[in-house]
Amino acid sequence: MANGLPNPLLTAGAARSLVDSVDAFLFDCDGVIWKGDQLIEGVPETLDLLRKMGKKLVFVTNNSRKSRRQYSKKFRALGLEVTEEEIFTSSFAAAMFLKLNNFPPEKKVYVVGEDGILEELRLAGFECLGGPEDGKKNILLEANFYFEHDKTAEVYIALLCSSLMAMREACGYKPLSGGHSTLLAPFTVLPVGPAWRYASLCIRENPGCLFIATNRDPTGHMTSAQEWPGAGTMVAAVSCSVQKEPIVVGKPSSFLMDFLLKSFNLETSRMCMVGDRLDTDILFGQNTGCKTLLVLSGVTTLSELQDASNTIHPDLYTNSIYDLVGLLQQ
Ligand SMILES: [Mg+2]
Repeated sequence: MANGLPNPLLTAGAARSLVDSVDAFLFDCDGVIWKGDQLIEGVPETLDLLRKMGKKLVFVTNNSRKSRRQYSKKFRALGLEVTEEEIFTSSFAAAMFLKLNNFPPEKKVYVVGEDGILEELRLAGFECLGGPEDGKKNILLEANFYFEHDKTAEVYIALLCSSLMAMREACGYKPLSGGHSTLLAPFTVLPVGPAWRYASLCIRENPGCLFIATNRDPTGHMTSAQEWPGAGTMVAAVSCSVQKEPIVVGKPSSFLMDFLLKSFNLETSRMCMVGDRLDTDILFGQNTGCKTLLVLSGVTTLSELQDASNTIHPDLYTNSIYDLVGLLQQ
């Protein structure tokens, strides 16, 4: 709470003292670097300036649709040079959580999500079930119907795009493409249903099955124009069904930071978390002892920040990270 104000605006003086007091900037991606597939104005200039000032840049995203390799490709496609080592995704965090907790490699991980998480889990040596194919299925709930699920599936991981798959079903949309999973043999002849239902069975019926969520974000910028339901909506559906809370490995959980600190020689007091969400990015920064900068280029509006009901106050806020360039040159 700088200057006695709950939400101080980033000024030239505050920008200067911020860059002087930190060695690393942790950037959220959606709503900070890009919106959907559209780069936010001034991002390349801002990142270039901070790199020239000798700052370490790290990109920390809750979006688990892509692997680090796929994100590095996205950065390049948008004209930004970012290495895989600078990217920390919640899909990578999920794989590292299992690895650091010695999850037996002979057990299987059932995934509600996309290719990125499958890639990270497989790179870490785990066998996966589910993934994008299972989101295109339908379960035929008829009288006395019993669904035989894989009793070796020990972990369920919820991911971002699962909510879109469920929405398609709820809205009566046809799948974008056909296909049945060969992993769910009993269903290859049936129209089988959304992966989250399968995951719920695994958690409820497989003793000791872990319930891991990459994140609980309620919304995300899956397109540049609108916010769409995020992974948190699907996690809530499963959580309600199994009456169990998940282990969250993305922001605001400190797991990601613990892992990040093991990878870099950094102190959290010398870091600044920059994000567009109060309940994930800013809370994550505060939970882990970082300075925090909220940008209004994503999901949070100024009136939400200043609303009396808001209890999460960043150290500073500004419209977008590009403001740093103008303010530091004053
Ligand atoms: Mg964001």
